[in-house]
Amino acid sequence: MPSSEQDARVQRSFKDGDLTAYGTLYLVGTPIGNLDDMSVRAVRILKEANWIAAEDTRQTRKLLTHFDIPGRLVSYHEHNKEKSGESLIEKLLAGETVALVSDAGLPAISDPGADVAAAAIERGIPVVPIPGPNAALTALIASGLPTDRFTFVGFLPREKKKAAAELARWSRHPATMIFYEAPHRVVATLRLMLEAWGDRRCVLARELTKRYEEFARGTLASCLRHVEETGPLGEYCVLVEGAADSGADEEPAAAWWADLSPAEHVAAYEERDGVTHKEALKLAATDRGVPKRELYNAIHQGGRDE
Ligand code: SAM
Repeated sequence: MPSSEQDARVQRSFKDGDLTAYGTLYLVGTPIGNLDDMSVRAVRILKEANWIAAEDTRQTRKLLTHFDIPGRLVSYHEHNKEKSGESLIEKLLAGETVALVSDAGLPAISDPGADVAAAAIERGIPVVPIPGPNAALTALIASGLPTDRFTFVGFLPREKKKAAAELARWSRHPATMIFYEAPHRVVATLRLMLEAWGDRRCVLARELTKRYEEFARGTLASCLRHVEETGPLGEYCVLVEGAADSGADEEPAAAWWADLSPAEHVAAYEERDGVTHKEALKLAATDRGVPKRELYNAIHQGGRDE
């Protein structure tokens, strides 16, 4: 973590002669369905890179073949990201360029990539984004829901109680929220949202950019009925409008935890079944906008470790 006294480290991605002797790590966006969404620049970078690091090399090989890209592939995924990440950093330190792709969309968004990008930045290696399609933003722009303020939440925890606790945290959130969900969990997730928030505007964006692309625009209840009737088919983004504005003239409603001490706040989360002490700390720290460690110290004052 850089200290506040240190000057910010500036990376000029394209200024001649300003880059290090290290190779560059490119984070390359790839299509989320329609191959025509591949950018000319993405194709060029993949052709020029010494290495292409891919989440699923077989899947990426198909993409490379389609665009006639001969690239050397290495695997980088959730389960080997530590070891493979180190080997990518070594390549970059030796001056080789690495283009990182995920199975679809932008690497590092609900996909591996963030860790190796952070490790590269830490070592002074240039990290350059090659923008491309992303399911969340693609869904948002055509949703009809407010786009001036939005929050990407991504996947909810798999366990029902943890998912419900997470939804409770977002109940008064004023911005449009974007969720990713696996098809077989869409119905259960919509039910949980309905339980947590009551009925609100909701949009299901399915199979974006693909042949059966579909937007179901309605409320949580009507979208739920729609998937129950049609069955969950393909990939979904779930978008839900934020909590209703309490009115410009009214005092903003106090947060439910405003009168609780830090310890009481954490305990309130722990009382929800299935929420561990560590998770409760994280939730309360996010509510209060303070680092988890700070909250932990305030409660335990140097006591037992997490
Ligand atoms: N990195 C990707 C991105 O930038 O969009 C997201 C990867 S995440 C592992 C996969 C999830 O994204 C899916 O479960 C689904 O919720 C959403 N998704 C991906 N492609 C989609 C599509 N074509 N239509 C709708 N949702 C999609």
